[in-house]
Amino acid sequence: MGNVVLNLEINKIMEMRNYYGKNLLDKNIPGSVFAAKTSACMITAYKSGKVLFQGNDSEKEASKWGSATSNKPSSPTKSKSPAKGDLPVGISQMSVIGSDEVGTGDFFGPITVVAAYVKKENIPLLKELGVRDSKDLNDEKIIAIAKVIKDIIPFSLMTLKNEKYNQVQQSGMSQGKMKAILHNQAILNVLSKISPEKPEAILIDQFVQGSTYFQHIKGQKAVAKENVCFSTKAEGIHLAVAAASILARYAFIQYIDKLSESAGFKIPKGAGAQVDIAAAKLIMSKGRDILPSYVKLHFANTDKAIALVNKKRN
Ligand code: MG
Repeated sequence: MGNVVLNLEINKIMEMRNYYGKNLLDKNIPGSVFAAKTSACMITAYKSGKVLFQGNDSEKEASKWGSATSNKPSSPTKSKSPAKGDLPVGISQMSVIGSDEVGTGDFFGPITVVAAYVKKENIPLLKELGVRDSKDLNDEKIIAIAKVIKDIIPFSLMTLKNEKYNQVQQSGMSQGKMKAILHNQAILNVLSKISPEKPEAILIDQFVQGSTYFQHIKGQKAVAKENVCFSTKAEGIHLAVAAASILARYAFIQYIDKLSESAGFKIPKGAGAQVDIAAAKLIMSKGRDILPSYVKLHFANTDKAIALVNKKRN
């Protein structure tokens, strides 16, 4: 199925809305100016100036209005030429596996890494469902969106629980290496889920330089290398990363809820003073030996919590 994106001025978009008058759809897609369906294709125009044509005759229909700046469906000869940094041209409209992680800076709870596959045809749908940078979304929204998209897009969740985290951390492994291994595994899982289909690109929300990433996973049984690229703030580059981030945060929230339940009180996120107090409370009620299954022991918060306990006991 064809899929063309044009970047147009707003007056052109208003002209289009008049032109498609009788084909307009009564659909309130967030950020859109109008949506229309003709016998040729589906057309969605956004306030950003992007106009998306989807359907068999999308190229013909789009050519009435301008020429595409990106995303002609696979012209394999030179579509992967690198642009800014090392990202392929037009990546945001490609079919992409995105991956991101949550929990690395939180004292309590695991690291969760998700890789998710978003086909270009699904981009407008995910936008409509509210998928965007998870930093702009509260937990309630994250949960609501995650519950819907988990059944729509193929993904893989890797959870590095605290016990295991502490074990590998104490054996000398850096958090960067742990993350790299988890990302690689999640990506491999998604690749095998969607096989024989292949993504046009794999985009990792960058946490180390690409060369360091590949250094970290050198010893792994299998390494996903083909079409892998990195960017910071990748959630804003492709919705697959935004979706991965939402699913990773959803898993993290659920895990924290589970920890809260077994602790008997609400476990806070982050690494601020509130987690020191919560950890102290945990030590007081369940003993110090319980900590490794709740927290990342090497954080400075561990000593602070123990100091709080000692202060209370004296
Ligand atoms: Mg990230």
